Amino acid sequence: MDKIVRAIAGDGFIKMAAADTREICERARVIHGLTPTATAALGRTLTAAGIFGNALKEENASVTVRINGGGPLGSVIAVSDSTGNVRGYVQDPNVDLPLKENGKIDVSGAVGKDGQITVIRDLGIGEPYGGSVQLVSGEIAEDFTAYLAESEQKPSACALGVLVDRDRSVIAAGGYIVELLPGAPDNIIDKLEKNIASAGSVTAQLKDGTVEDMINRVLEGFSPEILEETEIEYRCYCSRDRVEEALASLSEAELDEMKCSGDAEVTCQFCDAVYTFTPAQLEEILKNREKEEE
Ligand code: ZN
Repeated sequence: MDKIVRAIAGDGFIKMAAADTREICERARVIHGLTPTATAALGRTLTAAGIFGNALKEENASVTVRINGGGPLGSVIAVSDSTGNVRGYVQDPNVDLPLKENGKIDVSGAVGKDGQITVIRDLGIGEPYGGSVQLVSGEIAEDFTAYLAESEQKPSACALGVLVDRDRSVIAAGGYIVELLPGAPDNIIDKLEKNIASAGSVTAQLKDGTVEDMINRVLEGFSPEILEETEIEYRCYCSRDRVEEALASLSEAELDEMKCSGDAEVTCQFCDAVYTFTPAQLEEILKNREKEEE
């Protein structure tokens, strides 16, 4: 099963959260019929969103990430609960670009780099809060690093990766965020940068190794200590009740029109659930709504 592992190292100056998200990325691919390019873009975003969500303490909290760089993929949306269970979608799941010269998937070409990354946290109490920063590259990991530096004043290094097979299935996926706490000495930063460079790509590490191996490689020489390990999955919270609520917010004319065209099928944006409403059930929603308005 997919998981997020949290560790601390370097006399408490380094925090690291690392995730294996192969199953999540594969599930997202199947639900949305994603191309390899779209799988990489959404998979990277889901992975980082899960790491952000996993850091929230409040039980009903959630974090929503929206990336829009003006590229053909449109917006990339990922939502995590406070465990790190995630869901998401891209506006156009059919966008597929040729590989770049270095053989890597052209995520920035699909996402674009003329736009913003927005992170919104909803703690389940009070107003949701968050911030936006300009995209750096549209490659997503660098954009999360920029977000953490500019919006939250947290110096960090983020790495994300999704490796897709010829049959489009996900071979390996995951990532990590390493954060330096205030006062971290310069020699820690230098050594950490060297470790990250020599550790290699996330997918190369996860293809044959575990999340713990990745942590030990990146934090080599800093005596990493594992704090917590959490199992995560692709999880949607949609329900018939929620869809009914959404329908009830439509105008009378819109509901009338749906009613006249037979059974209405409402597909969840995030998962493969389809909710069917008969004209009689739509009439019921319309009536209940009128009652509430009185
Ligand atoms: Zn759903």
